[in-house]
Amino acid sequence: MNPHEPWGIYIHYPFCQRKCHYCDFYFSTLLKYRAGYEEVFWIEWQQRRKQWLPPNALVSLYIGGGTPSLASETFLKKLHKSIYPFLPSIEFTIEVNPEHVSLENIKLWRAIGVNRISIGVQTLNPQLLQLCGRTHTPTQVFKALELLCKHFDNVSVDILFNLPNQTTLEILHHLEQLLQFPIKHFSVYGLTIERRTYFYFLYKKGLLQQDETAFAEQFLAIDAFLTEHGFIHYEISNYGLKNYFSRHNLLYWNRHAYLGLGPSAHGFLAPRYRYANVANHHRYRRYLQQNRLPVEKEEVLSDEELFYEQLLLGLRLKQGIDLNTFSSVYQERIMQKIPLLEQKGWVQWRYPFLLPTLQGWLFHNTLVLTLMDL
Ligand code: SF4
Repeated sequence: MNPHEPWGIYIHYPFCQRKCHYCDFYFSTLLKYRAGYEEVFWIEWQQRRKQWLPPNALVSLYIGGGTPSLASETFLKKLHKSIYPFLPSIEFTIEVNPEHVSLENIKLWRAIGVNRISIGVQTLNPQLLQLCGRTHTPTQVFKALELLCKHFDNVSVDILFNLPNQTTLEILHHLEQLLQFPIKHFSVYGLTIERRTYFYFLYKKGLLQQDETAFAEQFLAIDAFLTEHGFIHYEISNYGLKNYFSRHNLLYWNRHAYLGLGPSAHGFLAPRYRYANVANHHRYRRYLQQNRLPVEKEEVLSDEELFYEQLLLGLRLKQGIDLNTFSSVYQERIMQKIPLLEQKGWVQWRYPFLLPTLQGWLFHNTLVLTLMDL
């Protein structure tokens, strides 16, 4: 492992006040178990400390969830103490919900070294917020952004599109309203109906549909709007101003290493080792009380799996894939497919890079499977 290769830490905070209707992440709404999680977490922290890569190459610490803005002050201060020497040089992000943004919390997040906020706005349509099961209102979003942007330079906003009956005009109007604030980054996700969600239940009953035409139209309209406003569409779902791309996300897509901690967290040690923690906070606690790492699944990628992953992750990025990073056998397989993919308008070939186009992103899965010959 190259000692200068960047790496990161992801912490999953597995509690939410209630379940959003589209969400299939792992979390619990039984907030009484928070203290138990926050207590045993440090056992995993200690164990993972042994797996740390060179500390001077640590570039990102990210607390996601769940709802990390529900984390206690004690927990966050202990985290600060544990990571203190590395804070000046890393990107330290916390995901927050609009309803939890207060001056008091902002002071706490700043005091522990957070320098990037990712806020889950989703939409500014109050009916759609309700339909999604979100607990915040548009007024809370505006208040939260006003406060956050006063105290943090680097604020990122999460937005959903292709929600039921959502129009392209409405999304663009919302983006315009959000851009009254000095937001530096947007994560923009099209709704996908996942099993184990209330939306899936509605879908099965025929009460909710997925509209592929609206998906494509909105994806392209958001791209046009945000790029006109100076944002770079650097990844299929992410836009950033120059110098504000998410370091944490880039670690994932560039296949750099990261340690995942907390229930359901995933970790990756380049180039081939992946693990997933147990997706249950009771089991997570039991494993750690027995002084075992709470790992449910581990795998060492085969050549073919590695090839798939390089394509799947690399083609999410605007910069595309560099053919020189593939062995000659795989380079040949890719080269054979380029004329067909260019004809479809899904890629551009700029030796040695294969770059996805916007159309290619719309057909991302099919693009990858075509290159895999599947
Ligand atoms: S979307 Fe976020 S806040 Fe809502 S249930 Fe999922 S993890 Fe919790």
